This record gives sequence, structure tokens and C-alpha cells, in this order.
Amino acid sequence: MAEQLVVDRLTKTFGGIVALNGVELAFSAGELIGLIGPNGSGKTTLLNIVSGYYTADRGQITYENQPIAGTSPHKLARIGIGRSFQVTKVFRRLTVMENMLVSGLSDWSETRSQASERATAILEDLKLTRLRDERASNLSGGQLKLLEFARIMMLQPKLLLLDEPFGGVHPELKRFMYDCIRKWNAAGITIILISHDMGSIFELCRRVVTLSYGDIICDGTPEETRADKGVLEAYLGE
Ligand code: ADP
Repeated sequence: MAEQLVVDRLTKTFGGIVALNGVELAFSAGELIGLIGPNGSGKTTLLNIVSGYYTADRGQITYENQPIAGTSPHKLARIGIGRSFQVTKVFRRLTVMENMLVSGLSDWSETRSQASERATAILEDLKLTRLRDERASNLSGGQLKLLEFARIMMLQPKLLLLDEPFGGVHPELKRFMYDCIRKWNAAGITIILISHDMGSIFELCRRVVTLSYGDIICDGTPEETRADKGVLEAYLGE
């Protein structure tokens, strides 16, 4: 299968800290990949670079055969790269529906009524319909997480980068989020999932990439990752 995303010798330093040390990775369209590693191993930095929030010191990123290093997050979102944040970027003073429509604005070919039709369907999918006119500031933490998911889906991503989506989420909601992730992946969306929660990663992903101090130390199945001594050592040192 053709590679959708290729990360080639990506290096990023912050002062004296090497956050990414010449990382090389390739992902095929439709994969669901877990990205793990101890705190500070470079996971979020990698996501920030792929989604255009940071620029790399060295290296190249190719998305659908186009070099994208240095492209703005906004442009990347328009070509199908969507991401979530550990802390949601929802506009708290707007209603749920308004948040959806603000996200949808990036598709200029769409009329307002088409956008609100799509938003309605996505809110239904995420069980947020009854909250559509509620201000985001009145939502619970879990509901905000779902709204963040809903807003990303307004952008119709082909590659979805999820940064710690399960942080502080109760088990029932986590299950529901798993179902969403599986459904989107089954519909063909490539997903890269960062989580500290290894149980979630091992349950959802057949491929797990482990980072430690900016290097990939393991790239394999959950079974291979569990059995890897280097991975164990990296986590023991945390
Ligand atoms: P992870 O997501 O695996 O916890 P990060 O990518 O956040 O790791 O961080 C990797 C390293 O880069 C850490 O040592 C972190 O302190 C450093 N780092 C990340 N972002 C910044 C930044 N904006 N400024 C300075 N240092 C940073």
C-alpha cells in the first residue's frame, strides 16, 4: 500500500534538549497506530511537527507525496490532517453548534446549511444532540472531550492525530471513545493515537511505536512491544 505519511530523519531540539533525534517513520493509509513512550520522550513534539505547530530543525515530512514541513496548521487541516489537543481548544463562550460551525468554516465550498447538516449528523453520532444549544462553558469535562472530537470531524480528516484523548475520562466514556476511534478508522481514516494509558493503546492499535529520549526504540505489534526489554527499561526509568 502507498505510504500516506513519511517522516524522514526528523530532528527537533529545545535549547540543549534533543526532543526528536532523527526519527524515521512511515504510515500507510488506514492504519491505527499507537504512539507511546515515557514522559518527555518526544511524542507530542512529533505530533506538533506533523500538524504544523512546530517546525523541525532538520528532516522532511511527506503527506500524500507532498512535502509538508513548514506548512501552517490551518492549511494542513484543509488537506486532511486533523489533530486534538490534550487541553481542548473548544470556544467556551460559544454554543456546541456554534463551535461546530466555526470549525466547518475552513471548507469554503460548503454553504451554511450544508455545514449545519453535517454538524447535526456528527453531533448525533457523538451523542451531543441534546446539548447543541448549550454553551460549551456549561459542559462537563467528558462532554468537552466529545465536542473536541466532533469539531475535528467537521474538518473531514484523512489523517487524525489524537493527543491523550482519554486523560481524565471515566471508563464508560472511554469505551464510547474507543468505539468512535474504531468506527472512524474502519471508514478509512488513518489515526495516530498518543496515550499514556497503555491498556487503551494495546486494545485499539495493532501497531505500536515507542519513543524514548527522541528515538524510536520499538515499532511492532502490542505483543512485541510488551515483550520488548528496551520498552520495559524505558518505562522503569520513568
Ligand atoms: P512527550 O509528549 O513524550 O511527553 P514532549 O514531546 O512533550 O514529550 O517533550 C519532549 C522533550 O522536549 C521534553 O524534554 C520536553 O521538556 C521538551 N519540550 C517539548 N516542547 C517544548 C517547548 N515548547 N519548549 C521547550 N522544551 C520543550
